[in-house]
Amino acid sequence: MEFNLLSDIVEYCRREKKDMAQAMLEYEMRNKRLTREQVYTGLKRTLFVMEESVEQGLTQQVISPSGMLNNWAKTILQCKVDTLGPALKKATARAIAVGEVNACMGKIAAAPTAGSAGILPAVLVTMMEEHAIPRERILEALLVSSAVGLVFAKNSSFAGSEAGCMGETGSAAAMAAGAITYLLGGNEEQILESVGFALKASMGLVCDPVGGLVEEPCTTRNAVGVANAFVSAQMALAGIKSLIPADEVIAATKEVGDLMSPRLKESGQGGLANTKTGREIQKRVFKTAE
Ligand code: SF4
Repeated sequence: MEFNLLSDIVEYCRREKKDMAQAMLEYEMRNKRLTREQVYTGLKRTLFVMEESVEQGLTQQVISPSGMLNNWAKTILQCKVDTLGPALKKATARAIAVGEVNACMGKIAAAPTAGSAGILPAVLVTMMEEHAIPRERILEALLVSSAVGLVFAKNSSFAGSEAGCMGETGSAAAMAAGAITYLLGGNEEQILESVGFALKASMGLVCDPVGGLVEEPCTTRNAVGVANAFVSAQMALAGIKSLIPADEVIAATKEVGDLMSPRLKESGQGGLANTKTGREIQKRVFKTAE
């Protein structure tokens, strides 16, 4: 059972009359020789860690050792202004909460990476709260997001050093967009459209963490990735077409990643890491001469 492309999964769903979550469950069971219970045990554990990291970031003191992150998630929640209603504000805070927990060496679910670990938890917790979605369905949505991640990993890269931040927060936004679309009743084609939208919005995003620490701009990029996921799912559920099929968009991320300068791929030599302020922060944090 091989799923190399998202279109392979859609074809399997059509042939077997399954949805994407069922297809991925069968994939996990067959390819990893797991029982249904074992797959679900892993999913439950992942969701638990996601929820716990959100909760920690929203309730505990989270100041990163570098000082770059300082209880921003709670600051957002306390803000009196909502730009697009309370749900998006909470989702923004949740994504940042996980980033802060990660920067403080707390436990997170790297889905797909530590740098992008805030997007899926923020989206899933928000979907549970806003749409009263039962946990079982959220676990199915995790399977859908894993389908997107599987194909992305096979045809592009999650590594910031290879595909820039497009490979991290971009792929996480795509995984989350697919999950939202699934949870709100989208079919397989709409899930793929949402993935295409999210990746197109992230195309060419550079990896430029200040001081080489996964804090700035990583944490706020997770929050923007959440907005990307919700907007992408909204467009797909409305019936808008991406025009470029999701599999081709994924192939384009690989091409763009290969074409990007190494200075813009986790080297600390370009982008925000190479700004005057970025260099000053690096010098202060590591107490080194420039
Ligand atoms: S900027 Fe680089 S390190 Fe930070 S989240 Fe993006 S890919 Fe990861």
